[in-house]
Amino acid sequence: MHYDIIIIGGAIVGSSVAYYLREEGFSGSIALVERDPQFSRAATTLSCASVRQQFSIPENILLSQFTLKLFRRLREEFGADADIGFREGGYLILAGENGLPILRANHEAQMAEGADIVLEDAEALVRRFPWLSVEGISAGAYGRSGEGWFDAHAMLMLFRKALRDKNIDFITADVTGIERQGDRVTSVSLDNGERLEAGTVVNAAGPNAGKVAAMAGLALPVEPRKRNVFVFEAREKYDDMPLLVDPSGIYVRPEGSVYITGGAEPEEGEGPAVPPTRPRLAAVRRGDLAGAGNPHSGLRGDQADGRLGRPLPLQHARPERGDRPASRGRQFPVRQRFSGHGLQ
Ligand SMILES: Cc1cc2nc3c(=O)[nH]c(=O)nc-3n(C[C@H](O)[C@H](O)[C@H](O)COP(=O)(O)OP(=O)(O)OC[C@H]3O[C@@H](n4cnc5c(N)ncnc54)[C@H](O)[C@@H]3O)c2cc1C
Repeated sequence: MHYDIIIIGGAIVGSSVAYYLREEGFSGSIALVERDPQFSRAATTLSCASVRQQFSIPENILLSQFTLKLFRRLREEFGADADIGFREGGYLILAGENGLPILRANHEAQMAEGADIVLEDAEALVRRFPWLSVEGISAGAYGRSGEGWFDAHAMLMLFRKALRDKNIDFITADVTGIERQGDRVTSVSLDNGERLEAGTVVNAAGPNAGKVAAMAGLALPVEPRKRNVFVFEAREKYDDMPLLVDPSGIYVRPEGSVYITGGAEPEEGEGPAVPPTRPRLAAVRRGDLAGAGNPHSGLRGDQADGRLGRPLPLQHARPERGDRPASRGRQFPVRQRFSGHGLQ
């Protein structure tokens, strides 16, 4: 069997690549190969599903704005019942004295792209969010619009459903090999013994993208790391609470009637890195978030311990400009590395 394009990985990146190929008028044959169509281990469905414009470089901000436009016309694009539960709650990124110059520089980059972000000192932040504790905080950048969180699984399903009418072959299989002739990728092998010839192969394998590139004999510095997301309950509820990022790197945001939190984990080291242990939760509870309003004040420890988040794979990499060696050329593109925000 021959396909003009074979996409390895059918989660948000692979499915949206297929979707936009058709939207842009590509009429050749496309196969979307996914080994886990329930997406039980995909970063997409395990992510915190938040969207922000608070980045430091225009590329990231423009990608966010593209997605935001899609959110705003979701029903036109995907039909009247399309709903991803988008909550435009904003991000509030806090900085102490040391982090202030970076926060300011990032804010300038965001303003240059027309993002609706305000940079406020501690006093103004307390006026805006009276429940916020600003001990050790010099300023915060708050997204008044265009930032928030949504249902990642629902978004993925909208793409997958839309693809059904777009003449795409959905193949459930594990890609186990990629053959090359010189500089050209020519075919992929599947665990069911099939071999598919390809004009172009797109690597959309998420945290597994390094392994997939290695099948073609290419070195791509992407490997999985475990990340923890904790779920907890608190007595206090703040309806206006954005996604807070503390200067320590720990984040917290509301998720329906509970909260989720995580962050500030080591970037280096062999994965799996950090299992969801009690000491890790204790660090969160002890007051790492004190400067971020301490919404944990009502945390019920034992209950929270019993509801620890699952360890998750995450491709932990910053975006890089220009071609990487493994993605050079148009025939084996790698769709990867979006500053931990590849979903949006
Ligand atoms: C804890 C956590 C929090 C996050 N929070 C956010 C956030 O708030 N906002 C945001 O925008 N992003 C967030 N992200 C990042 C985001 O989830 C990812 O960048 C994005 O989902 C990547 O999508 P993907 O399709 O590339 O990868 P994945 O969703 O991992 O999909 C890759 C797919 O490829 C398949 N695959 C892999 N290898 C093969 C193979 N050999 N053969 C066949 N199929 C294969 C896998 O089964 C998988 O379904 C978070 C990630 C994590 C882990």
